[in-house]
Amino acid sequence: ERSKLKRLKTARAATLDGEEVALLANIELPQDVGQVKEVDAAGIGLFRTEYLFMNRDELPTEDEQLEAYRSVAKALAGKPVTIRTLDIGADKQARALRNGGERQEPNPALGLRAIRYCLAEPQLFMTQLRALLRASHYGRVRILVPMLAHVHEIEQTLALIELAKTQLREARVKFDEGIEVGGMIEIPAAALVLGPFLKRLRFLSIGTNDLIQYTLAIDRTDEAVSHLYDPLHPAVLRLIAGTIQAGARAEVPVAICGEMAGDPTLTHLLIGMGLRQFSMHPSQILEVKQKVVMADAEQLAQKVTRLLRLDEPERIRELMERL
Ligand code: PEP
Ligand code: MG
Repeated sequence: ERSKLKRLKTARAATLDGEEVALLANIELPQDVGQVKEVDAAGIGLFRTEYLFMNRDELPTEDEQLEAYRSVAKALAGKPVTIRTLDIGADKQARALRNGGERQEPNPALGLRAIRYCLAEPQLFMTQLRALLRASHYGRVRILVPMLAHVHEIEQTLALIELAKTQLREARVKFDEGIEVGGMIEIPAAALVLGPFLKRLRFLSIGTNDLIQYTLAIDRTDEAVSHLYDPLHPAVLRLIAGTIQAGARAEVPVAICGEMAGDPTLTHLLIGMGLRQFSMHPSQILEVKQKVVMADAEQLAQKVTRLLRLDEPERIRELMERL
């Protein structure tokens, strides 16, 4: 079994009917790139930068961040390296940061996390943005913004990126002028009203972990409700499919970087929805590739169209068996 998977490493990730599928890796720290190369991932779809900020007393400086991002950009040698801006708060706490100030947050998952935190702390955000831009000179870096719900959050972020670019130009520091900025779709409000996102962002990545949490009102860290955390809930499926389809119509690439992307039992469902970019823990890539090479995208699209019309969980699961 292991060696069969190993042979898949060099196989092309494409369906039986020739649809190319990009299998990208999620990483948390620069040292994870070893594993990424081992499975020959198509690039990095999600670098969770908050891990550079966690478990320490001092914040990483701009130069320290640059070093981390640059080493990954260089190691990937021209393949896309999607680096997410700081997603701190809720399930990812950093003691070097006082999330929400001194106050106790009444509900961290609904509080000042991710892009909300960064926009409230522009100095900290600018430091990271400059480091990301500087790293973009050394590879194909893309910036991914988490937890967007409002158009003004995108606009403020893009304005800060422009400001960081101006600062670097003035200091004659090189960066990729054409760097792409994308956004995470992980709040139902964003998935429901995608037009303004598609207009302003160059790519989207669906964060199913949070999308499920916020759609079903289940704290992803609370074991007492974990049995209600259901990726196959029809409301979740429709939000995901709608996002993939809206992206295709607008010609804005859409990936999934939440846990669903790395679950081989869901690969055919997602291909049938039209997904062509999956980002997951590197250890899952070959198993997912095995599903990709057995898939008939055209046939799956027809079956999944029918599945998405179903409301009854048992019927959905029945159809899932036959994908
Ligand atoms: C997600 O929410 O699905 C995601 C990829 O981000 P994180 O798990 O880091 O919140
Ligand atoms: Mg998330």
